[in-house]
Amino acid sequence: MKKLLFLLALYIYSFSDSHIFVYHRFGDPKHPSTNTSLEHLTTQFEYFKKNNYIVVPLEDILNKVRKKEDIPSNWVALTIDDSFKSFYNNGLPLFKKYNYPFSIFIYVEAVQRNFKDFTSWDELKEINKYGTIGLHSYGHDHLLKISKDELIKDTNKALKLFQKNLGFKPTIYVYPYGEYNKEIEDTIKTFGFKAVLNQSTGTVNKNSDIYDINRIALVGNTNIKHKLRYKTLNVNWIQPKIYPKNDILTKVIANVDPKIKKLKLYVTSHGWRDIKVKNGLVNETLNIKLKRSRTRIILGTDVFTISTKLLIKN
Ligand SMILES: [Zn+2]
Repeated sequence: MKKLLFLLALYIYSFSDSHIFVYHRFGDPKHPSTNTSLEHLTTQFEYFKKNNYIVVPLEDILNKVRKKEDIPSNWVALTIDDSFKSFYNNGLPLFKKYNYPFSIFIYVEAVQRNFKDFTSWDELKEINKYGTIGLHSYGHDHLLKISKDELIKDTNKALKLFQKNLGFKPTIYVYPYGEYNKEIEDTIKTFGFKAVLNQSTGTVNKNSDIYDINRIALVGNTNIKHKLRYKTLNVNWIQPKIYPKNDILTKVIANVDPKIKKLKLYVTSHGWRDIKVKNGLVNETLNIKLKRSRTRIILGTDVFTISTKLLIKN
């Protein structure tokens, strides 16, 4: 019996939650809130290497999600947003040294108009030899602040310039600032992307939604070991679906595994609280005022096994 339990534990450990990380700038201390120093990047890469993590192309994880196949939990994919020059100058040499694949998502307007600090189309062609390139919008707007028509225009413009300069169509879209709602998701889907990535802390497994793939941000001197402890808690979110109109979060309602009797609930700027679960139903009355226009609600069995609901005020 003991052996069986051990094997079961091993099985659960071996196939469940892969991790997709997102970086922004490299070796660029002028921007500490988005920067990863080369020293910290090396520490993270060494951690992967020494602890049996395999850095796979992003597509390998996404293909498993599409086929609803178990994903080995030692799989890690690395993504880079915004196409800052510091990736080309500082980050890329280290990725090459470790032979780690990556996917970079470009802010097309910044590339096209030669914004200071961003890569050029020629540099992207060079980058493309070692990793894949996807789309991170044309204008890098907060998508909830622009109209549906503007979002369509922005995406068309980005696709046209991307194709013209790189010679192929991007297949993956990443939301600017990780901000989206159902309507934005539906609009982006109409362009035929094969996957869409968010920036909500969480993992990716065979039950993940291919148009709503979690990524964990890595910045500064982050504890990579802790980030790799994240797992997905299966939650069917019922309420709230959108940011409440008067900023008052009245209730959180959700379905979870009926075996769960208690959970932790987190709300941005209100912290964690313990809540009870009855027959797989979370039905927690809160009546609290939301203070941030970008609020995360998290349900977890602990602070690592979680599901996140992101609410953005229009
Ligand atoms: Zn961005």
